[in-house]
Formats: sequence, structure tokens, C-alpha cells
Amino acid sequence: MGAKEYVDSILDYIKRCSPGQDEFYEAVSEVFYSIIPLLEEEKKYKQNAILERLVVPERTIIFRVVWVDDSGKINTNLGYRVQFNSTLGPYKGGLRFHPDVSLGTFKFLGFEQTFKNALTNLGIGGAKGGSNFNPKGKSDNEIMRFCQSFMNELYRHIGTTKDVPAGDIGVGEREIGYLYGQYKKLTATSEGVLTGKGVGWGGSFARKEATGYGAVYFAEHFLQKMGYELKGKICAVSGAGNVATYTIEKLKELGAKPITCSDSKGTIYDPSGIDVKTLKAIKELHRLDLSEYAKIHKSATYIPKHKYPKGGHAVWSIPCDIAFPAATQNELTLIDAKNLVKNGCIMVNECSNMPSTPDAIEYLKAHNILFAPSKAVNAGGVSVSQLEMEQNASMQKWSFAEVDTKLQAIMKNIFETAFETAKEFGKEGDLQLGANIASFKRVADAMIALGAV
Ligand code: NDP
Repeated sequence: MGAKEYVDSILDYIKRCSPGQDEFYEAVSEVFYSIIPLLEEEKKYKQNAILERLVVPERTIIFRVVWVDDSGKINTNLGYRVQFNSTLGPYKGGLRFHPDVSLGTFKFLGFEQTFKNALTNLGIGGAKGGSNFNPKGKSDNEIMRFCQSFMNELYRHIGTTKDVPAGDIGVGEREIGYLYGQYKKLTATSEGVLTGKGVGWGGSFARKEATGYGAVYFAEHFLQKMGYELKGKICAVSGAGNVATYTIEKLKELGAKPITCSDSKGTIYDPSGIDVKTLKAIKELHRLDLSEYAKIHKSATYIPKHKYPKGGHAVWSIPCDIAFPAATQNELTLIDAKNLVKNGCIMVNECSNMPSTPDAIEYLKAHNILFAPSKAVNAGGVSVSQLEMEQNASMQKWSFAEVDTKLQAIMKNIFETAFETAKEFGKEGDLQLGANIASFKRVADAMIALGAV
């Protein structure tokens, strides 16, 4: 059986054994098809059944989360933690609270996280978890009661050398605070068992900024390598949460011009450049809809979701030099890719996890658009989470500048690893292939060393 047939057989197995988990299937095929050149060279991966083992999480925990809302009604949600792969170290990966999640979502995110974490060259395994709880419209007390109930079960499965969760969509510093408070209450310890904590109570400087800043550092390296510069570039950014906000902030700091942002209801187009202060006030502070932005900035236009192009997103139909998807998975479709190419975009720098659909990636690459894949681009967040673990374990606190310097070094290293690996396989500039092969090798070689477990 050749390498392609080996990959086909694994994907066939996933289709049969994980029905309805389309995002998981998409994530696995994205990685496995791009590592075929390595599988053709190295027979040891097939001999050691690495692909078979990699697609099965080491442990999947699904639990009931019961909580009482402000009206006294009892609510029940599903809680998940998929501990995907601990070969390189303790499980590490965020918690997502969003009504649309299912087991397949967390399997896709945990699988991706395993390779992303491997790329950082730090000692962390991959996991992901969360709940189908919808935090929108909930009072602060309801959020707290939900987080406490969620932790009442999760605490048995995590630990500083076992599994260290962080935030993700719908889980920011407020939620991490309530989760951490309950963990401390239940265990009577003060371990840094969650990352993304507030800087006043065990968190690291620059963790909040890390994913967005790291994504921009990555884009800068890629652009420089290909003979461009970031300064002066018009940038389209989607999302208006943690990753989008700090991507926009760093872009502005480095002289680029971010002109869009979006939330689940609509898009802001501000040709004079997104005002970060307003964005933070609307989203971080007051948790309002993005439509508020256009009421404050007369230069801005608000495009509600029902006016988006059919099958696409308004953000990607606005002419730009660089696209920074930073909201959610599959948010950049083939239609969007075609719009970007038509409008002269030179690069897509994926900040959210798996934002581009497979046909969009194919189209972008076929049209020589520089394509920077999410598992490399957004690895700055988990890297600074690991730095937070290091600071907690040694009872130290590093300055913002110290952490930012380390983040920059990590992002440079990730870029170089992906770039050099692609070159080694005769595909210079193909960072998707480079990132997938480099991270797969690191995990797979360690799995072989640790035996058939
Ligand atoms: P946030 O919850 O802070 O922000 C998410 C943003 O995306 C919000 O503006 C939200 O809109 C919008 N959004 C979410 N789901 C959808 C959807 N289905 N359709 C349209 N818009 C949507 O999350 P983060 O910024 O933390 O995460 C964004 C992405 O980055 C995710 O893919 C996450 O996995 C990834 N990531 C995050 C890291 C981190 O450190 N936070 C690290 C690495 C990756 P609204 O405001 O209306 O809810």
C-alpha cells in the first residue's frame, strides 16, 4: 500500500467510526494529505501505526453541567474535554463556550492543537474542551454559576503536570477567573492549572495579546522572506474578539492599516483604519454588538450579516493586501478566496483555527497567494500560556517586555521551521506543507520512542 492509499484508509476509518464529525475529518485530511511526501520517504510511520494512533484521542471526557439561571430555572449543558495527545507533555489547549460545538468540534480542535503545540518546540501535548453553553445574554452571576458547575466535574481530570486548559471562543479572563476560583476551592491548592489568568492573580503579562501579536510577527517574517514589507499594507481582519483585537492593535503599531472587523452579526468597514480603543470599549468592556462602532465613527460602514455575499463573508469582499481571518473555523470559503484574488490580495494569514475551507486553500495556493496556516500563525497564544506555566511553577513574574521578546523568538522559530521544512521537501514557500510535516515529525518520532502505548 502506497502513502496515499495509507492516508485514504485512515480517512475511510474516520468516516465510518466518527460519523457526522465533519470538522474533525477536514482537519485530519488537511494534515495527512500534506505529509504524503514524508510518508513516501519514511516507512517507519506506517510500520509503527502512527496515523492509526494519532486519530484516536487518548481520552475523551463528556459530562453533564447543571446550573440554575437568574429566574430559578434549572439548565443542563454538555461539558467536554478531549485529551488528544500527551506525547510531548501535559495536555494543553483552550476551552470554548459556544452553542454550536459538538464532540467533532473538540476533536478537530484537539487534533490541530497537538500539531500546533509541537511546532512551538515547547513540551506540551494537545487537548481542547468546553461546552455548548451560550454565554450571550447571560448575566455575570449566571456565567459564574455555569463556570463553577463546569469545574465541579473538570477539576478531577486536570492538573499542572496533567492537563492545563486556557480560554478560546466565549472564554476570556472573566470565565477563567470563575473556573480558577472554583478549582482552588475544590482542591485547596494554588496551582497555575489554568492559563489566561489575570495578571493580578497568577497570569502572565502579554498572554491576552499573545495570539494576535504572534500572528502579526509571523506575517512579518513571511512577507520579508518573500520580498514584501508589512508597513503600509491594507489589512482585512475578521472577528472582534481576543485574537482579532490584538491582531489589529499590532498591525497598527507596525504601520499597516487594518480596515475591517466583524462579529457574529455583522462587519465594520472603516477605510480610515479600525480604532482599537473603540473596539476594545465595545467588545472587551461593554460586550456590545459591533454595530455600535459605526455610531461613533462616521468614517465607518456597518454591513449586517443578511447583506453578505451569498456563501461568503463581507470582510473578504473588501479590497485588501492581506487577509487575517480571526473569528472561527471555515469562515473563508471558495467564494471569499475568489474575491480576495480578484481584488489583488497577496497573502492570507490564518489567525483563527482552520478558517479556510479546503477548496479555498487550494484556490489561494493555485493563484500564488502567500498562505500562512493557522497552526503556525496562531501558536503564539499557547506559547505564552506555556510561559505562564513556567512563571507559575517557579513563582516568578516576568515583565511584559521579557514575555514579548520570548514570544517574538518563538514565532521566528516557528516560521523558520515551517519555511525550511518546505524547502527541504522541494516546496519553498509552502508553509502548509512545512508546518504539517515539521509538527507531525516531532509528535510521531516521540510516539515511536515512547513505544506502543
Ligand atoms: P473570542 O470569543 O474572543 O472572539 C471570537 C470572535 O469571532 C467574536 O467576535 C465572535 O463574534 C466571532 N465569532 C465566533 N463564532 C462565530 C461564528 N460562528 N460566525 C461569525 N463570527 C463568529 O474568541 P478568540 O478571539 O479567542 O478566538 C478566535 C479564533 O482564534 C478561534 O478560532 C480560536 O480557536 C482561535 N484561537 C484563539 C486563541 C486565543 O488565545 N484566544 C489561541 C489560538 C487560536 P461575537 O462577538 O458576536 O460573539
